[in-house]
Amino acid sequence: MANNRVDNAVIYPGSFDPITYGHINIIERALKIFRKVIVAVSHNQSGKKPFFSIEERVSIIKEIFRKEKRVVVEPFKGLLVDYIKSKSVDTVLRGLRTVADFEFELQMSLANKKMSGNVETVFMMTEGRYSFLSSSIIKEILSLGGRAEELVPDVVVRRFNERLKERKTDIVSWE
Ligand code: ADP
Repeated sequence: MANNRVDNAVIYPGSFDPITYGHINIIERALKIFRKVIVAVSHNQSGKKPFFSIEERVSIIKEIFRKEKRVVVEPFKGLLVDYIKSKSVDTVLRGLRTVADFEFELQMSLANKKMSGNVETVFMMTEGRYSFLSSSIIKEILSLGGRAEELVPDVVVRRFNERLKERKTDIVSWE
């Protein structure tokens, strides 16, 4: 049976607050399988307030992949299934690190399938060296002044420190 999905585009949704080498590794590996990867940066973070604005998260990822025309970066609001329909793409990509990821991802993929029978989610296992890496860990390390060069691109460290400085200045100016 002919299957043209693999030769097609895939949507990689997430918060990317901020993007890490774990996410980048998934995108680079997906480019070997899919013609195009649409990185869809989500507005809603189940109540969590993001560190970076959505515009900044999009712009950081665009900067990282500026030379790779097959990576498209976009913000999206609302339900993933609605966004997928609007793009006429029916394959979603997610990464898996731990058993905890698995349980959450299974629920999500089943819910998406229930809402739109056409959607298929494909999962890529993290590479061992990134298995512990998450956006939350990066925010923790950077806000405590730790080194993260091997975990995120320079642009992330630079923009993080800029935002942190702005916020500290804001706090001081309000005191
Ligand atoms: P979300 O809030 O939607 O989970 P994230 O930005 O945290 O968004 O993650 C987006 C996707 O990337 C998820 O599928 C997540 O499991 C995956 N991911 C995050 N970090 C890694 C990593 N280090 N290795 C592999 N996949 C990862």
